[in-house]
Amino acid sequence: MSFDPYGVLLGRALYPAWERLRGRPTFALLHHLQRTERASLDELTTMRSGYLRRLVDHAYEHTTHYRRAFDAAGLVPSDITTFDDIRKLPLLERAIAQTSVDARTAAWPDVAVTKTTSGSTGQPLEVRFSAESRYWRDAMRWRGFGWANYRMGNKAMHLWGVAAVPPSRLMRAKIALDRKLRRDVYTSCMVRSNEHLREMVELIRTEKPQVLAGYAQALADLARFVNREGLRTWDTIPVVYGAERLWEHDRQDLAKAFGPAVFETYGCREFMLMGMECEAHDGLHESAENLIVELLVREPGGTTRLARPGEQGEVAVTDLHNLACPFIRYLTGDLATARAQTRCGCGRTLPMFGAVEGRVTDTMHDADGNPVEGILFNILFLNMAKHTRQFQAVQRADGSLLLRVVPTVEGRLPPEVEALIREFVGTHLRGIPLLIEIVTEIPLTKAGKLRRVVVERGRYVGAPSAPRP
Ligand SMILES: [Zn+2]
Repeated sequence: MSFDPYGVLLGRALYPAWERLRGRPTFALLHHLQRTERASLDELTTMRSGYLRRLVDHAYEHTTHYRRAFDAAGLVPSDITTFDDIRKLPLLERAIAQTSVDARTAAWPDVAVTKTTSGSTGQPLEVRFSAESRYWRDAMRWRGFGWANYRMGNKAMHLWGVAAVPPSRLMRAKIALDRKLRRDVYTSCMVRSNEHLREMVELIRTEKPQVLAGYAQALADLARFVNREGLRTWDTIPVVYGAERLWEHDRQDLAKAFGPAVFETYGCREFMLMGMECEAHDGLHESAENLIVELLVREPGGTTRLARPGEQGEVAVTDLHNLACPFIRYLTGDLATARAQTRCGCGRTLPMFGAVEGRVTDTMHDADGNPVEGILFNILFLNMAKHTRQFQAVQRADGSLLLRVVPTVEGRLPPEVEALIREFVGTHLRGIPLLIEIVTEIPLTKAGKLRRVVVERGRYVGAPSAPRP
């Protein structure tokens, strides 16, 4: 990276001063976190169980929702003593989180930030958090980004969707000031036509960003365009991606276009950064001082257990520092793969998990009503990356499957590839009528994301399955 005096000044002096003006102790926390990421496991666990006990005491004393939920589960706060006792606490399903916002809001501290998330189901969820929680979120994000060499004061180019609701004029002015100060460049990835991709390349050339950040598939599409047209004129630019899954061939495309510094992040509007890939590129480190991320597998009889290494589990998150409107064991709707807790090559002690695999809501059903993981299609198309550029599998409300495919060769899918797809669908989605549609692009969601698997509402669940013995 070339010497950039303004960037250094911005990062070391102006940015911290700005943070202090706004009364945020983000910097002090960031320094603290840069130490605790290498603390002993004992120290980390002691710290986290302390935060957990404080959260549980507070939620029980000051919110009607948790008072009722703990009473119903026959629990009192003093039942939670060790870190593993978190498993005794009830789970918070998204549907309950949506209807319990007021009942989860505590008498104190004050709510500092309120925002609404849309979620993949389209049902909004209101998230409220305290000022303390906001400092932790900011510091956690800057620590994680630092592993990708993305530091305060760096110039970043963001490929994001546009907000569903346009911000007010005052908000716009505030955002513009924030961005100017940080020198960041924003470009919408809603449309990814060749013309638009060429504009993005032009932005990289003129603005010379020190980091690229955005949706995984938008970045991968840009990388493929750069490679196809032979447009790379820059050295390595670190890439920080999230919001969507990136596959091995996407990563290869990104490495070719921008260099090998490609980092996965796992975040959401409810909690910001929950996990971040480090320079060892061997999984994601949990934002452990701020959150507890559990990967849970449901067992017959309604109990849950932790996913074993290599196994997928539902993500449940406990926010340790949001006392204003607590989230305890909230099911985000994502699935992630558990990873053996061996020490990471980077030397950090923070617990780890594997790639985030997709949404729980993306479960399809065959004609007999058996659930089929939509993730299967990712595996199918991973093997066909040579023939297909993009795909989307949509299970219609009537049960039929619509497969939209963007072939590598325009307008054509080789007959043997089509036969393979039909055989695959026949095996895994038995009895389901299949329509393959050859398209030139896949429509994006309102937020600019590419959803690879879509299960339409009022979804068909086939014939009732026979009761299991
Ligand atoms: Zn690491």
